[in-house]
Amino acid sequence: MLNEKIDTLVVGAGQAGVAMSEHLTSQGVPHLVLEKNRIAEAWRTGRWDSLVANGPAWHDRFPSQEFTGMDPEDFAGKDRVADYFVEYAKRFNAPIRTGVEVIKAERIEGTGAFQVETTDGVIEAQRIVAATGAFQHPVIPPVVPEEADMKQLHSFHYRNPGQLPEGAVLVVGAGSSGAQIADELNRAGRKVYLSVGPHDRPPRMYRGRDFVWWLGVLGLWDQAAQEPGKEHVTISVSGAYGGQTMDFRRLAGEGVTLLGMTETYENGTLTFASDLQDNIASGDADYLKMLELADAYVERTGIDLPEEPEARRAFPDPYCLSHPIRELDLKKEGITTILWATGFRQDFAWMKVDAFDAQGRPRHQRGVSAEPGIYFLGLPWQSRRGSTFIWGVWHDAKHVADQIAIQRHYEGYRGPGECRADAL
Ligand SMILES: Cc1cc2nc3c(=O)[nH]c(=O)nc-3n(C[C@H](O)[C@H](O)[C@H](O)COP(=O)(O)OP(=O)(O)OC[C@H]3O[C@@H](n4cnc5c(N)ncnc54)[C@H](O)[C@@H]3O)c2cc1C
Repeated sequence: MLNEKIDTLVVGAGQAGVAMSEHLTSQGVPHLVLEKNRIAEAWRTGRWDSLVANGPAWHDRFPSQEFTGMDPEDFAGKDRVADYFVEYAKRFNAPIRTGVEVIKAERIEGTGAFQVETTDGVIEAQRIVAATGAFQHPVIPPVVPEEADMKQLHSFHYRNPGQLPEGAVLVVGAGSSGAQIADELNRAGRKVYLSVGPHDRPPRMYRGRDFVWWLGVLGLWDQAAQEPGKEHVTISVSGAYGGQTMDFRRLAGEGVTLLGMTETYENGTLTFASDLQDNIASGDADYLKMLELADAYVERTGIDLPEEPEARRAFPDPYCLSHPIRELDLKKEGITTILWATGFRQDFAWMKVDAFDAQGRPRHQRGVSAEPGIYFLGLPWQSRRGSTFIWGVWHDAKHVADQIAIQRHYEGYRGPGECRADAL
């Protein structure tokens, strides 16, 4: 049963869906946004209690609206970020329908349109924008069996230290989530082990400017392609406690035991790779490279920013770094929880269209699919490093909306004597 027809259907009302709706509105494209939960749900229920944005409020926002009622140099809490998107959508009356899940979308042969099954009926859409996000399903690598006598949870389900059973915690993964959670648990008096993989870790501030500013002026947010070999390198930053550089030597000095990558599990014992020193060294190299790029920028532009030689002073190597542990008997160490901060996977199972490669990854150019009428938004490196971040997705949405408007322009063309089709 067909309930309605729409030109462009946007699936998902996180920041990507809201940005998409704004640009489609500006372009005069009739559209509808369907969201299975609430607007910006991930910021409400998919984050731990104390999480704040990684960038200051002046930066982690859309260009035309500031965060009100807070210092722009502060870091907005997760609910404040969600409220921001709700307010933003209200501002231009975004046609968002919440509580409606898209179950299936498939081509209607011979029409160029798509039939979309939802939990609230069937929609015919000329175009679909999948704005369902890069961080949909938590991924836990199959290392420790579920039956092991141990609480295991993903960072997506972590809320606060009180939620975990008494005892020590092993945090696996030292991107922004793992490093911040390890820090929080350690401050809460837990014994914490942190398994550290390859990572980048920019200085929070340098010469009086936040790293988000440095990445901006250096053109690194807009960098279009990943550096070869760094495809899966996570970035470790934090806005917590007023914002500070993620420094693993400092964490170790405060009591966290650093480990290499988690490898295997057998009879209650976990083994770790011999890569801890390499991973810390490559994080240090990334940090120092940023200082060099920043210094070169100051020299080139003559901008008046104070020198900061102390930024190059490192904490001493902790014992766990100079003598890495390769094996841990979990019971003996009193570890009762393993917290996996090991990332997410996307899910496009509802899209029964020919828009994916053999590995199920979207085939696209800056969000425009090889399959006509299909668009993506919020993908990692969709057009640039910033594509999955708040401000970056806004720019990608603009590009996708422009492409949709261009297509509609051609589709709307009628030669002399031809009848104009009814526009949707
Ligand atoms: C822990 C964490 C912290 C982060 N911190 C920052 C930060 O500080 N600054 C920053 O710029 N970025 C940050 N990010 C990255 C990014 O900004 C967020 O992940 C953001 O939520 C992504 O927005 P999105 O709209 O692309 O996806 P999402 O917010 O995940 O939104 C997608 C929406 O689609 C809906 N949906 C999915 N499938 C369907 C369906 N079939 N039908 C209908 N609706 C559907 C979901 O319910 C969801 O609401 C962070 C990410 C994580 C994981």
